[in-house]
Amino acid sequence: MRFLPTLVSVFLLLGFANVSRAQAAGESAARALHERLLTLDTHLDTPLSLRRAAWDIRQRHEFATDGTQVDYPRMVEGGLDGGWWAVYTAQGPLTPEGRQAARNAALQNALRIHRMVAANPQHFELALQAEDAARIAAAGKRIVYLSMENAYPIGEDISLVRTFHELGVRVMSPVHAQHNDLADSSGDAGAKRWHGLSPLGKQFVAECNRLGLVLDASHASDEAFDQMLELSATPIMLTHSSCKAVCPHPRNIDDVRMRTLAARGGVIQMNSVSAFLIDTPVNPERNQAVLALRAKFGNRSGLTEEQNQAMLRERQEIFGKYPVPRATLDDFMKHILHALKTVGPQHVGFGADWDGGGGVVGMEDVGGYHKITAALLQAGYAEKDLAAMWSGNALRLLRAAEEHAAKMGADAPEAASRPRRRP
Ligand SMILES: [Zn+2]
Repeated sequence: MRFLPTLVSVFLLLGFANVSRAQAAGESAARALHERLLTLDTHLDTPLSLRRAAWDIRQRHEFATDGTQVDYPRMVEGGLDGGWWAVYTAQGPLTPEGRQAARNAALQNALRIHRMVAANPQHFELALQAEDAARIAAAGKRIVYLSMENAYPIGEDISLVRTFHELGVRVMSPVHAQHNDLADSSGDAGAKRWHGLSPLGKQFVAECNRLGLVLDASHASDEAFDQMLELSATPIMLTHSSCKAVCPHPRNIDDVRMRTLAARGGVIQMNSVSAFLIDTPVNPERNQAVLALRAKFGNRSGLTEEQNQAMLRERQEIFGKYPVPRATLDDFMKHILHALKTVGPQHVGFGADWDGGGGVVGMEDVGGYHKITAALLQAGYAEKDLAAMWSGNALRLLRAAEEHAAKMGADAPEAASRPRRRP
């Protein structure tokens, strides 16, 4: 009888060993599936890191000490094949000088992405068409599509859409956190300026359609979203958005609009910014401290490495003193599963806003991206669903935009811009 407790514990231990072995087998199967998939994120703010002269995309960085979330080693770790690298421009004054400065900055930012690819031909390759992604991934390289977040750099000159298209931009959003010349923003607390798109914004939609760009309605006001959806000849994308039904933030999309988006063939790519995933109450003291920090250090891109470290330390102190609730991987999954339940796997994807405020507790940087695949497998989604979510849907939209442009007979930009030789 005295052996009984020992026997019981042996059986229990064997039981646990089986469970943990089964768990490990499940994890490695999920990992293997994730590696098989072509994976794209539709909103990488990583070009912001490229502005730091000493920062090297080939080196592995730590989010905790460096503040970045994407580099080549962490893309490999997280099994991310590539995505849309954003030419982001903060909204500035709507004046001739402001527009000109934005245009020049955007051209520089686009060139920085091109330089990164040119300097690392063994790691990265520029992608211009939907069909390029699979070929680049098969060659063992990371895929670099360009997108533009906030079309402020085109100012009032619609012809610049074509200039940026020629620079490789294939996805474009009219507006960021403030109303501009093209559209109203979901983030601007001021009076509506256009009640959606401006007349120029409507021309912008037509020009993107004509050239074969995918329209991105993330950050746009609800009215601007409705009008983009109505006017666009091809399905539109929310490159980095979350669900209003789960977290009622003005930046998020409601279920009715999400269904209309899907009915027209569009997709929502899920964003992982805590403020859009969970309730994060405003703290006036923290806001004051952050504004003072910004005033002290100015634009991050102009900082030396030491200044950048000092800024990050002070920022950490502020957030230590006035903590903001941080969303977890489970919170992020709630939004993903809600979108899936609402519109299905053919209309959901990922644009986690890496290097732009994204990342959650349990998935702090892109190195943990494979966890999403594991969680979705556990939720019962099949490989074909995951393939659609991880790239199939986004590429379907790009293909639709390309086909529309071809049908419209949009003159091939490369050919048209090549100087003609005299006969
Ligand atoms: Zn954004």
